[in-house]
Amino acid sequence: MVSDCIFCKIVAGEIPASKVYEDDHFLAFLDISQVTPGHTLVIPKRHARNLLEMTPDETADLFNIVSRVTKKVEGATQPQGMNIISNMEEIAGQSVFHTHVHILPRYSQEDDLKIDFIAHEPDFEHLAQLAKDISNH
Ligand code: 5GP
Ligand code: ZN
Repeated sequence: MVSDCIFCKIVAGEIPASKVYEDDHFLAFLDISQVTPGHTLVIPKRHARNLLEMTPDETADLFNIVSRVTKKVEGATQPQGMNIISNMEEIAGQSVFHTHVHILPRYSQEDDLKIDFIAHEPDFEHLAQLAKDISNH
């Protein structure tokens, strides 16, 4: 437990949360700011800064629970679609530095979640080089 971590405090029961799922290793609870109704966070109980600090096996176990909880949220809220997002570091919008995955039901394109993918013209030479660099890492 990291003493100044708000999500460690939720795991320890030191501050309250609206829990929707809990087992020995994971916890899911409603995000306090409800960007859309049903906005839920899934966290590992063991503190890690974000997904970049977790092993592939730990992340796989986390996403097993994300899948289960996503289906529970979908069943309860009946949205038209959903987003699953995990922010890593401040530049990517991370504000709580204990790994969490956002589950966001979507009801309308005019709701309060804004994600813009600005498309660019493909540069196939660059794509080939980049793919090589990534696959060799
Ligand atoms: P991030 O910006 O790090 O991806 O997301 C952190 C999320 O944690 C935010 O959506 C914020 O509303 C939520 N949050 C911050 N403090 C609390 C809290 O004390 N309780 C709950 N349930 N959610 C919190
Ligand atoms: Zn923590």
